[in-house]
Amino acid sequence: TPGTEFFHATDRAQTARTLAQEFRTAYGTDPEGVWSAPGRVNLIGEHVDYTGGLCLPLALPHRTFVALRPRTDGVVRVRSLQEPSGVVEVPLAEVGAGSPQGWAAYVAGVPWALQQNGFEGLALTGGFDALVDGHVPYGSGLSSSAALECAVAVALGELVELPLDDTGRAGLASACQLAENVVAGANTGGMDQAASLRCHEGGAILLDTDDDSVTQVALDLAGAGLALLVVDTRAEHSHAGGEYGKRRADVERAAELLGVANLRAVDPAGLDAALERLGTEADGEVLVRRVRHAVTEIERVRRTAELLQAGRAGEVGPLLDASHDSLRDDYEVSCRELDLTVEVARARGALGARMTGGGFGGSAIALLAAERVEEVAAAVATAFAEQGLRAPRFLTALPSEGAARDL
Ligand code: ADP
Ligand code: MG
Repeated sequence: TPGTEFFHATDRAQTARTLAQEFRTAYGTDPEGVWSAPGRVNLIGEHVDYTGGLCLPLALPHRTFVALRPRTDGVVRVRSLQEPSGVVEVPLAEVGAGSPQGWAAYVAGVPWALQQNGFEGLALTGGFDALVDGHVPYGSGLSSSAALECAVAVALGELVELPLDDTGRAGLASACQLAENVVAGANTGGMDQAASLRCHEGGAILLDTDDDSVTQVALDLAGAGLALLVVDTRAEHSHAGGEYGKRRADVERAAELLGVANLRAVDPAGLDAALERLGTEADGEVLVRRVRHAVTEIERVRRTAELLQAGRAGEVGPLLDASHDSLRDDYEVSCRELDLTVEVARARGALGARMTGGGFGGSAIALLAAERVEEVAAAVATAFAEQGLRAPRFLTALPSEGAARDL
């Protein structure tokens, strides 16, 4: 049987101290501080954050760190320990749609977006030197991109003396989303940034993407004898970006045909009537399935949150299962590796399992009794090996703190 590789979070204080030293080596001065922001995993509520829906993400213990020192000449210089490109230098005046290209967009885009959203201060116009160290795996659907943006945002937010309460953080999150959408050119919803900035240790957030409000939902997995196993399938399908755009276009068209602002506005009690109406369109068969996913998924999030709030985490499994089946059959964003993970986890006694994140690769989650983590991980690794698939990677998600200063 193949070994199982677990991807552990680093010690925060130690990682921050080391990064500060490396900043000094790279730039010749001490940083003003070191900040970090987490990746996230979404418990339930998938592909609904761009149609006003509800989702229930939690922050991972895996974080991206940024050591940063403000400049005054309008230049951003940034290096990442994960990128071979060395120091990238970008005048803030040149930041905008699609510029800079590459990973530096997720850094330089943040001060640009904050200014676009009306925030002011020298830390946003003067530029900065930054050194990045990411411990959220890239492209695994765990949102390393938001972790990077949000680490920069919380640093800049503190330097311009923005209150970092939940309202202040909501403002930072929407700027980070703008940076990702416009500067990095990734047309994503707002869940990732909200999770990275607005989560607290020991809980998930119930995020309402219709009005951007957040309700903290305690999630004491250990207390319930449970664990949330994350399986990074390491599958990446090249059509993911295009399909994501198509799904967004489908739900936007469906909302328009139904005469609503977004699919959140479709009353679940009136779902059948809405589906019947869409069924009369030429592409109705597809639209019916897309809308059925969105409306039922939002209801599943509601019920999951109610169960968690009632301290009944052990009962959410069937909702996770139903979410996966809906994403696979109606929304068509799963893939062989995700389906296999879910099947194996369920067969090995997981209470529930589903793909998480955008799909077409990336990660799946399984909610299970804590003592079964190793066994389920080994069974998934074995199934992947038997099918000739690339070895998956594992981590366990403990609900962790949102973006914060480390040093
Ligand atoms: P995900 O957010 O699911 O990990 P994305 O494609 O949205 O995947 O974001 C990954 C991209 O974010 C990387 O290709 C890189 O451009 C950027 N990125 C994330 N973490 C870092 C890092 N530590 N250093 C430099 N760039 C990073
Ligand atoms: Mg991302």
